[in-house]
Amino acid sequence: MRTAPTILHLDMDAFYASAEQAAKPSLRGKAVVVGGLGPRGVVATASYEARKFGVHSAMPMGQARRLAPHAAYLVPRFRLYREISEQVMELLGALSPLVEPLSLDEAFVDLEAGEAAWDAASAEAVGWRLRADIRRVTGLTGSVGLAASKMLAKIGSEEAKPDGLVLIRPGTERALLGPRSVRILPGVGPATADHLRRAGIQTVEEIAGAGEDELVRLLGKAHGSHLYEMALARDERPVVAERDSKSVSVEDTYDVDIHDRVRVRMEVRRLAGRCVERLRAAERSGRTVVLKVRRYDFSTLTRSETLRGPTDDPGVVREAAARLLEGVDTTGGVRLLGVGVSGLADFTQEDLFAQFAAAEEAAAEELEGDAGSVESVEAAEPEPTPVERKWLAGHDVRHAEFGAGWVQGSGLGRVTVRFETPYAEVPGRVRTFRVDDPELEPAEPLPLVEGAEEAQVGSSSAPATLPNVTSGD
Ligand SMILES: [Mg+2]
Repeated sequence: MRTAPTILHLDMDAFYASAEQAAKPSLRGKAVVVGGLGPRGVVATASYEARKFGVHSAMPMGQARRLAPHAAYLVPRFRLYREISEQVMELLGALSPLVEPLSLDEAFVDLEAGEAAWDAASAEAVGWRLRADIRRVTGLTGSVGLAASKMLAKIGSEEAKPDGLVLIRPGTERALLGPRSVRILPGVGPATADHLRRAGIQTVEEIAGAGEDELVRLLGKAHGSHLYEMALARDERPVVAERDSKSVSVEDTYDVDIHDRVRVRMEVRRLAGRCVERLRAAERSGRTVVLKVRRYDFSTLTRSETLRGPTDDPGVVREAAARLLEGVDTTGGVRLLGVGVSGLADFTQEDLFAQFAAAEEAAAEELEGDAGSVESVEAAEPEPTPVERKWLAGHDVRHAEFGAGWVQGSGLGRVTVRFETPYAEVPGRVRTFRVDDPELEPAEPLPLVEGAEEAQVGSSSAPATLPNVTSGD
């Protein structure tokens, strides 16, 4: 393990909910819940105000509504979140060539590889500057953990939340982890914690004290050994940039479960296409195609198929992903789909797949035709056609007379709109219209920071101006 805390973990604070509060002045300081609002909907993110009522991500929406009946309930605006994510990832990319994104709002950065930091002081300075840059460019806050390993850096950012920075000095890891609940270790959920508790193990130092043999006896070889290593704060995993990784994958979470089998097939084909785009951008090819399906009940399946040789051909990957999907039951609804390619190589054995060529081209052309419509459904944006338009709670609209606003609610042929923009200081006015009002139209999300597109990336402001600062020293 390295001797300086130069692995950085960034995690944006309550990302979707914070973006909605920044966009909607009337929701600032209020309980906001973003997620699927249908009968089987699940919370994606809850604002800190909503968390005080016990609402948390992955909770069924019905339960959230019972706990926090007065919270604002909004449908995610993935297009906006992706745009913000790109701004954040660009700032991270300026620090190091080794950036490993874990999701839209979370990533590891190897500061040493980017020569951005070499010891605790320089790493901490980079962390502060990054947080200030993120705030300036996106208008949102992110928390930073700095440590000598990925595991501790991630624990650090969790401890720093919200809007903070925690640096864990090498050598102090075991003292920090020792008295904490076993739940602080990654991968220890309620079931494992319960199992350990019945064996008399509740803290991390009790895991270390029990010894590896006992852990293996309790949890099996792989899980037991891994947990023992983590309890000793041993984590040698490197930060891996996509181009160096062993696999490339893309996935999408849907705000509304997909039940329609035809739609599921279309989504899988589209994801396969996107996956190959990334594979090609990295100038790689791969042998194993992986399909990931998370169902309505959060059970997650992965299926894989290994080809005779590596490929970067969209038709081949699509065909394989489609075959894998045929073996998966999706009747209850699908929450997340992913397609990946692993077993990467730097070359392609194209001739192995010559026989597929004609079929692939036909499939590719077919896909181009429907890609646009699928993309808009996936992003849960209102359809531009008046007959189909849906007024989803939280989504953007524009009224010919009153200007920009967002849907506060709809039903019984009426839609209630609050007219306000991210740049206002005070809540805007509310008006109600008929759902077919010709003056009301769905609109694109406004950037959270006015003129953000022109903002310069890379300058910094003084750490002392930031609120709620913590330090792990
Ligand atoms: Mg986050």
